[in-house]
Amino acid sequence: MNSIQMNEVERKDIPNCNHASLSKEYHLGSATGDYVCDDCGKSGFGRNWPEQEAQAKLAAKRT
Ligand SMILES: [Zn+2]
Repeated sequence: MNSIQMNEVERKDIPNCNHASLSKEYHLGSATGDYVCDDCGKSGFGRNWPEQEAQAKLAAKRT
């Protein structure tokens, strides 16, 4: 029996993924403005979200 609901895009949860390869995300044929990582499936707004996420991680480590 499979009780896990798969209602999200497949995510591989790669801990050290640097999101080097991004694809534009489309919803019903139009671009959402989000970019999805080809490797781990994570998405964020704008082409530079991996940079912003990396900076946020650095900032969090300093506390
Ligand atoms: Zn990624």
